Amino acid sequence: MGLTLAQKIIQSHLLSGEMTAGSEIGLKIDQTLTQDATGTVAYLEFEAMGVPRVKTERSVAYIDHNTLQTGFENADDHRFIQSVAKKHGIYFSRPGNGICHQVHLERFGIPGKTLIGSDSHTPTGGGIGMLAMGAGGLDVAVAMGGGAYYITMPKMLRINLTGKLSPWVSAKDIILEVLRILTVKGGVGKVVEYGGEGVSTLSVPERATITNMGAELGATTSIFPSDEITKEFLKAQGREQDWIELKPDADAVYDEVLTINLSELAPMAACPHSPDKVKKVGEIGKMKVDQVCIGSCTNSSYRDLMRVASILKGKTVNPNVSLAIAPGSKQVYTMLAQNGALADLISAGARILECACGPCIGMGQSPNTAGISLRTFNRNFEGRSGTADAQIYLVSPETAAASAITGVLTDARTLGKENPVEMPAHFYINDNLIVPPADESEAKDVEILRGPNIKEFPATAALPQSIEAKALLKVGDNITTDHIMPAGSKILPYRSNIPYLSNFCFGVCDKEFPERCRQNGKGIIIGGANYGQGSSREHAALVPLYLGIKAVIVKSFARIHCANLANAGIIPLMFKNEKDYDTIDQMDELELPNIRTEIENGTAVLVKNLTKGTTFEAEAVLSERQRKMVLAGGLLNYTRENSGK
Ligand code: SF4
Repeated sequence: MGLTLAQKIIQSHLLSGEMTAGSEIGLKIDQTLTQDATGTVAYLEFEAMGVPRVKTERSVAYIDHNTLQTGFENADDHRFIQSVAKKHGIYFSRPGNGICHQVHLERFGIPGKTLIGSDSHTPTGGGIGMLAMGAGGLDVAVAMGGGAYYITMPKMLRINLTGKLSPWVSAKDIILEVLRILTVKGGVGKVVEYGGEGVSTLSVPERATITNMGAELGATTSIFPSDEITKEFLKAQGREQDWIELKPDADAVYDEVLTINLSELAPMAACPHSPDKVKKVGEIGKMKVDQVCIGSCTNSSYRDLMRVASILKGKTVNPNVSLAIAPGSKQVYTMLAQNGALADLISAGARILECACGPCIGMGQSPNTAGISLRTFNRNFEGRSGTADAQIYLVSPETAAASAITGVLTDARTLGKENPVEMPAHFYINDNLIVPPADESEAKDVEILRGPNIKEFPATAALPQSIEAKALLKVGDNITTDHIMPAGSKILPYRSNIPYLSNFCFGVCDKEFPERCRQNGKGIIIGGANYGQGSSREHAALVPLYLGIKAVIVKSFARIHCANLANAGIIPLMFKNEKDYDTIDQMDELELPNIRTEIENGTAVLVKNLTKGTTFEAEAVLSERQRKMVLAGGLLNYTRENSGK
């Protein structure tokens, strides 16, 4: 039986497990990327592993998220990341060089390689034929240290593209159509693999727009073949030597197949507040627009912005619309400046922002109250723009530019004849904002620059034979990671300062909890059903670890948080009999007398309630690999032990 394209890359990188959908596999990772919002912690974790040099083929640290410097914290984080990168063998993309996914595609992506990034839109790299996945910071740290990246072997979904896009219809409309059909849950547990004759009509940046928003499908990743068009793109980037041909076997078997005829597509828009609430622009009608934002890792390529410039040339932005444009990279920005397109944008009245995520991550350009904003971005969740009642529509650059001129949602096909954009034979190449790491011989003398905002990663130790600690907190059902570790703009700049963050741990449930932890030095949390649901943020495990939490005993866990606890070396335990939950009161003294042996053997865990004089059994929610990890004191220690460091 032949293999799909994704299966071929998985097979050539398989370190452990069986390639049967649903089983855990370990993959060798060739490249990593981080952005600054998640990167600081990823590098603190990497430092804590004690590995002197990254073991990947290429690791890159980008600064693109927290670029507003209204206090010292973000600048400190940037400087810290730059010094870590220099010392440990990581390339550093300076603020101003562009959005991580756009720059990675231009300057580092290689067909057939594996890439993980501490950012959910890392699958953008699938546009160039990489197996590129979003991951947690700790996963990225481990991959940099030479460890495997573990995923559940995905199912294979093939999307056949037939026909050719009509004028003014673009790649964004393709992925919006896929989202309309499959919904935001349609890709869960799957790799989306694009094929069919329509693929050869799409440039690499257009393919990357499609794989980028595969993240909104919930897919493990999305991927395009590497063909002559990929080769031309790499050649134009001066990297022809990085090209290899990649395609699925003719007899590859897919779990599902979907066909989309490009010729039948029309301009689309995802309506508030979900990327899968997709309608044709024509169906929505001529809605008045207050703001248009063009950019983000979805739609900020040279091709996209040249299309926008060709629409805006000689026109004026509607007086009731604020138009903001953020080029995806310095390469794109410079080329627009060199060929005059930038002047067309400025002259039409566009507000040009720096090459960064900007409004996509709520860093500026929040719409007016109840404002209608058309954005070429990938997410339109309520409040993400910074204005709670704003109505965000996700559209193509063509729809965005046309609407910016008319002041109402506009189908660009009404503009008349299209001016096609040719992909350049040579992109402008100047990597002067990418700082290479120090040579290995000089690296030991590089000083890590920690401002007051950068604190050490909490240390962990191997699991002892027994644990005795108080139940420092008892909470009910459906505790979210937001309860455990709140986010928000006041807290975000402190992602690299776990001691400071610890003051807010469980603050919405019990303000005294951090102080009780400090006084007792160690503790156990008792929870109800579905503990740790919500966002995957690993701070919800790292902060309790810092506060001395040794185990969490609950009725049931949300899957990702449970894995994050195990990664941190906190033992995730489930009551064997849920009724035992009722027998424990907050501040009861608990003892787990044989915990190490029980985890080693995978047997039930005995818990003694010394205060009440009762006992009960719990079950450790751990795979065999996770049991070894917890015994070592968490994923970092486990990786360090297994990498001989
Ligand atoms: Fe995330 Fe937006 Fe930045 Fe893309 S542009 S990496 S979606 S914040």
